[in-house]
Amino acid sequence: MKRKLLMALLFSLLIGLLAACGGSDDADDGEASGDDAATDDGDKEVYTVATDNGYVPFEYIDEDSGDLVGFDIDLITALAEEADIEIEFETLEFDGIVAGIGSGRFDIAIAGMTITEEREESIDFTQPYYEAGLILAVQDGNDEIESIDDVDGKVIATRTGSTSQEYLTENTDAEIEAFPAIIEAYQNVLAGRSDAVLYDLPNVQYYSEKDADGELVTVGEKLTGEDYGIAFTKGSELRDVIDDALTTLKENGTYDDIYEEWFGERPEGT
Ligand code: GLN
Repeated sequence: MKRKLLMALLFSLLIGLLAACGGSDDADDGEASGDDAATDDGDKEVYTVATDNGYVPFEYIDEDSGDLVGFDIDLITALAEEADIEIEFETLEFDGIVAGIGSGRFDIAIAGMTITEEREESIDFTQPYYEAGLILAVQDGNDEIESIDDVDGKVIATRTGSTSQEYLTENTDAEIEAFPAIIEAYQNVLAGRSDAVLYDLPNVQYYSEKDADGELVTVGEKLTGEDYGIAFTKGSELRDVIDDALTTLKENGTYDDIYEEWFGERPEGT
């Protein structure tokens, strides 16, 4: 008898679990773009914000709290408040974000995404909200690579679908190794499997200082201008709403507060 009861209990648990999985799957598949965005209990629409799952210090999971944190997260949260809209985050690999926002799978994307002409063919961006640039980094002690002029024939790690990958393809004869997660590229360099990594300066710097104990060192000059923009599917009406909110936050000091929290004092003239 006892056994039967246990089986019945397990069975109903299983059914419950299956139902829960099915439910969340449906929610994931649901198109949440534009007019048909899901509504919450109130009457405000909830817009999906796609963001990167590991791009310090712009968006990453805080190890202690397990929360999604970062400059981009604070910025888009403040922008949503200013624009009086509700948002919910979805994290995924960077190349999936670029493709997904282009095809209308998400309403908004904020992921340290550089505004490029090629992306502008399928994506509408806000005004720039952060100025980055690309930098090379090597393992401490490697003096073979001192600048981008030394990378031809060398194994250079980077991230799939990034502006760095494009830069290496177009401007060098390096042997490019692209990883879905940028941390894998860093780890490959630290393990001596790749000769160097090319990536966005603020990310390389933050990783090097906080996560690599200075074992990863930047070399050479900062390359190319990289203006980050918040991304929308082409023609999205939300773009202007968020862009106006961004102008307001830049004017009223909120942007500066968030910036200083993550990066310290802003450099003169920016
Ligand atoms: N800024 C780079 C790009 O847009 C990398 C962004 C990222 O890895 N999140 O390609």
